[in-house]
Formats: sequence, structure tokens, C-alpha cells
Amino acid sequence: MKTRILPVSEASLAEAKELIAAGEVVAFHTETVYGLGADARNDAAVKKIFALKGRPADNPLIAHVHAGYDISALVEIPPYAYALQKAFLPGPLTMVYPSKGKVSPYVSCGLCTLSVRVPSSPAAQAFLRAVDVPIAAPSANRSKHVSPVTAQHVFDDFAGDIPLILDGGPSSGGIESTVLDCTGEYPQILRAGLVTREMIAAVVGQCGVYRMHAGEKPKSPGMAYKHYAPGCRTAFFAADDVSSARRCYGKEAGQGGAPYIMAEHAVCALLDGYERLDLGATPAEMAANLYKLLREGERKATLLIGIEPREKGGVMDGVRNRLLRAFGQSEDTHEA
Ligand code: AMP
Ligand code: MG
Repeated sequence: MKTRILPVSEASLAEAKELIAAGEVVAFHTETVYGLGADARNDAAVKKIFALKGRPADNPLIAHVHAGYDISALVEIPPYAYALQKAFLPGPLTMVYPSKGKVSPYVSCGLCTLSVRVPSSPAAQAFLRAVDVPIAAPSANRSKHVSPVTAQHVFDDFAGDIPLILDGGPSSGGIESTVLDCTGEYPQILRAGLVTREMIAAVVGQCGVYRMHAGEKPKSPGMAYKHYAPGCRTAFFAADDVSSARRCYGKEAGQGGAPYIMAEHAVCALLDGYERLDLGATPAEMAANLYKLLREGERKATLLIGIEPREKGGVMDGVRNRLLRAFGQSEDTHEA
């Protein structure tokens, strides 16, 4: 199959609509990362997504809808969730609700909940309005690989396997949406993202953070899997251990390898003469640059050396979670 990358236009949207109606899979831009979408009501189309990604059959997908779509047709919405919808949608927040069973059971992998997201990117909105059905989609990467933030990244993983990538330019947010469980008395974060615990608590007064305990069935099944791994060797050093990172770099270079250091801007500034991948200075910059630089790193480096950013909390919860896991430093949760 030939994979085409097309900008969003009347013609490409009409084509996407036809492909989705025919049970095909189409990749599309969102403000977080690119998604791999299919008609959420079509069992065979949803199964295709799992097969293409090599995604474990117990890791559910997110139903994406346009801003005018009536979410209450799909799920039961608790009162506090309306306030969160009003505050953050459209945007990088996925909310998990009790499902009304209106989409394929394969979307939620048999769970009685359904996660719904309303992306804010104009390209995503145009696609979702054109098809006007809920689109089941995970991130458009092979399972365990780094998530895609450009159409080219999607092409690199799926060329020849999907018919169409709707190109909306680089994804500006850079890390996947916050996943928020809205099935309890108050919301609980299952996956950290750009909509932070602090922002959610400011709207509804209380927001928990789910921590998986050893031996327990994870509340968000995706958390049990490895993720974000670049295709080269990696090493990781604490924020206060730049000297060890320098030694590690020297050793790799001495053996004829191509080491690269990935670090926040202030640390990169100390490493004149080294090959560097500069994550940026602010949490938003680090989120936006992370996956792009991981993919660049795996292309160029034999050894990618990460240095932990100093800042914690807020958006850094999500950035640190992805970064640590990309470098094999186990935070307790894993995605696919
Ligand atoms: P991805 O779109 O690849 O970022 O993956 C979707 C994420 O949302 C995974 O971490 C899933 O485990 C999570 N997710 C999707 N649906 C549900 C659900 N019904 N309950 C809990 N987590 C979910
Ligand atoms: Mg993913």
C-alpha cells in the first residue's frame, strides 16, 4: 500500500472520510501527538489499529470527537466533569467515563469505561467534523517506540501500512494528553500531561493521582507497558551528576561511537564542544521538544546520554514521566 502525506484540505478530508467509512485507518494531527484513527463503532477497523501498532490487546484506545459532538450520547457524565469539560475542552485532556456501550467493545478492551478526548488542533477538528463519528485512536507510533510529533515520524513507523497521513504540521504540545479518571467521586490522574493536577484541582477542588501498586491490576492498562524507547543505547544521569555524563560521553567517543547528550538548556550551555540535544528552558519547551529530540537522537547517536531536568511538579510531572521511561529509568507506569 502506498502511504500518502497530504495537507488538510477539502479534497484530503473527503478522502479521509471515505477511508474511515470503508473501515481503513487514517493518521491525523493533534496538538499533543499524531493519532492513528479508525471508526470507533467498527470492530474490524478498531482491531486493525492494534495489529498495526503491535499494541497489547488489553491497552484501550481513546475516542476522539469534534467540539460540537454530544459526548453524553457515548458516556455517563458526572456533574464535576461538566466543569472540567468547560474549563479544558477542546484541549489536551482525556476523560474516562462510565461507557454507554455505543462504540466497539475493542476500543475499551472490554472495560465498562470509555475515554473521550476533544482535541483543539484545527486539523484534528476539521478531520473529526468531516467524518462526524467517534474516532478511536492511540498515538501513531509502533508500540513501545517514541510517540510521533510530525507527519514524517508517522511515515517512518507506518510507511506502506496505512493509506493516509493528514499533515497538520508539528504537534506543539509534544506529550500525550492527560488521562483523567472521571468514574469516581472526584477526578484522578491516570497519566500526567499538559493539563496538570494543579489546574484540575483549581476547577473542582480536588484531584487525585493514581499510583500503581505492585501486583495490582492497573487502572489504566497501558501503564503496565514499556514505552518511548529510542532505537539506540541510552544512559541516564541525575541533575547533579553532569561530570559522570561527561565521562560517559568521553568513553563512548573514545571507542569511536557517536554520543549525544540530551539535557535542559542551562545544562547544555555548560557543555560547549559536546554534541547536544537541547530540551529547552521551560517545562512547555521541554514537553514540545522531547519526542522530536528522542527521534533525532536515535537517528544520529550510538549512545544517547540523558541528564535529569531539575524542575518538578506541574507540566514537568508529564515530561519527567516520559523522559525517565525513555531512558529505562522506571517510573512505576508504562505506556504502549
Ligand atoms: P495512547 O493514545 O497511545 O496515548 O494511549 C491511550 C492511553 O489512554 C493509554 O494509557 C490507555 O491505557 C489510556 N486509556 C484509554 N482508555 C482508557 C480507559 N477506558 N480506562 C483507563 N485508561 C484508558
Ligand atoms: Mg501511545
